[in-house]
Amino acid sequence: MSTENLRIVWIYPDLLSTYGDRGNALILARRAQRRGFPVEVLEVRSDQRLPTTADIYLIGGGEDGPQALGAQRLLADGGLHRAVAQGSVVFGVCAGYQLLGTSFFAKGTQYQGLELLDFSSDRGPSRAVGELAGDIDARLGLPPLTGFENHGGRTHLGPGVSPLARVTAGVGNDGATEGAWRGKLLGTYSHGPALARNPALADLLLRWATGAQHLPPLDDTWADRLRAERRTAVATSRA
Ligand code: GLN
Repeated sequence: MSTENLRIVWIYPDLLSTYGDRGNALILARRAQRRGFPVEVLEVRSDQRLPTTADIYLIGGGEDGPQALGAQRLLADGGLHRAVAQGSVVFGVCAGYQLLGTSFFAKGTQYQGLELLDFSSDRGPSRAVGELAGDIDARLGLPPLTGFENHGGRTHLGPGVSPLARVTAGVGNDGATEGAWRGKLLGTYSHGPALARNPALADLLLRWATGAQHLPPLDDTWADRLRAERRTAVATSRA
């Protein structure tokens, strides 16, 4: 950790925060506090400079216009690149995932991404809307991913990045893989919010940020119930 507090930055809540993605900051803060880590959550709007010394940066989903604006401001700011060079964790969702790559499409125009991860996004034949589920890369040691997706983009991974998961329901990147990760950078199409639906993923980000090998388990009864309910809903809709 870079400071006494675990510093979590929620990037551009005024532009990038659809479908309750703010919940990702709440979940991370709560799960860290319950393990005894003092936590500071900073909300950095798009007219503010991004601090470069935080431990975890969160970027949420967004409509095409705010997504393009958010990417331009992050490129101009340069703070996220400096933070990544210093080893910070980044977690991007949907629009916030796409803009970590080399390029993406918004309203029919191609925009430059932050080029922090080796993938690019174009548009699919239709919007991907509904439940999203997948088996996560075994090296990460996590239970299956569940979430909700709503995006027009499709994402094509390059050799410099690994898929986060193999899709078992929904579309994700392209119907076969979902999300991407490299080092301490991770992106997903999963809303929900993703870290409420996938507490083990929240704990992975906390372990990356704190350097802790293990975190004491928490009571995840409610999250487990929600995960089971959504798994049943996916199975039922397929039957
Ligand atoms: N605008 C992007 C797309 O439609 C991302 C949407 C989102 O963040 N939900 O692909």
